[in-house]
Amino acid sequence: MKSFRCACGNSLYFENSHCLECGRPVGMLPDTRQLTGFDVGGDDYWRVPIAGAETRTAYRPCQNYTQHQVCNWLVHADDPNPYCISCRLTRVIPNLDQPENIQRWYRIEAAKRRLLFTLDGLNLPIVGRDIDPERGLVFELLEGSSSSDEFADTLDCDPPVYTGHAGGVITINIAEADDSSRERMREKMGEAYRTMLGHFRHESGHYYWDRLIAGSPWQAEFRELFGDERVDYNVALAQHHQWGAPADWPTRWISAYASMHPWEDWAETWAHYLHIVDTLETASHMHVQHNLNQPVCLERNPQQNIPEFQSLIKEWDWLSRSLNALNRSLGMPDAYPFTPSRQVLEKLQFIDRLVKADR
Ligand SMILES: [Zn+2]
Ligand SMILES: [Zn+2]
Ligand SMILES: [Zn+2]
Repeated sequence: MKSFRCACGNSLYFENSHCLECGRPVGMLPDTRQLTGFDVGGDDYWRVPIAGAETRTAYRPCQNYTQHQVCNWLVHADDPNPYCISCRLTRVIPNLDQPENIQRWYRIEAAKRRLLFTLDGLNLPIVGRDIDPERGLVFELLEGSSSSDEFADTLDCDPPVYTGHAGGVITINIAEADDSSRERMREKMGEAYRTMLGHFRHESGHYYWDRLIAGSPWQAEFRELFGDERVDYNVALAQHHQWGAPADWPTRWISAYASMHPWEDWAETWAHYLHIVDTLETASHMHVQHNLNQPVCLERNPQQNIPEFQSLIKEWDWLSRSLNALNRSLGMPDAYPFTPSRQVLEKLQFIDRLVKADR
């Protein structure tokens, strides 16, 4: 994530909705990838406060910003859609009659905006249902009711709500937005890491497998590295729940779950590629850089803006160890509790080539 500044010079976080220094409302312009403080005119439109700017484009906040404070992105004044490009991809929102759901919704949308911002920075196609009604990207934020399935990768509810992907539809079980529920699930599944952002990154991997790998010239090499995805998914799932991951999984996969099926291996490894490039970009912007001689910068030109793979991974090895040591000093668990093996690095390099390929 790059760093942002208000017009007053104060630094801003991606999630901010107003500047604590000058009090301006803060918003993101998704088209120019700028987050800053705005001046609100007498016409209620928001404009970037630049002295002497000849044409100051008018924006308005997303309807989920003004009505529910769960968004901080802006929309062009002449766009007829009241929602920003992130919110318009959510077709089912949580039931707001339940007061606790607004906070859950906020956390989910904030993580989703981070995902979308990174995907856009990597110049990956984000095609919604309006363009592709069959397999365009869309999100459903669902809630289950009571307790059930012991072994499913779902939080307790009946019928179970699975966080997952099918044909462009990414479903999120909104209980994942509760720290206690998610942590309970993390322990039950024996995972080292479970976050809302991690879920979004993982599920986006399934979406991009369909878009970029299936039936493409990349598919043969995919099968060499990740295995043949034509093996029966439900059989693989049942076997994984019965037997768990092979004992040598750390040498072959990034996580135990990745050993379940080539599609899950792909989605897990994809999520890690996004973890790595986004965190390295944040570090570059914070001037925390060790071996690289160029900053990592996801500004829609990954070929130019992401260093070659070996340097990237060398930097990540240093940065992730540093992060873990810093976290331990604060009494926190490791930020990146993973050690990518040589085989995992080969898979990550495949993703790196795919992301940097001409499209
Ligand atoms: Zn300010
Ligand atoms: Zn929005
Ligand atoms: Zn998955």
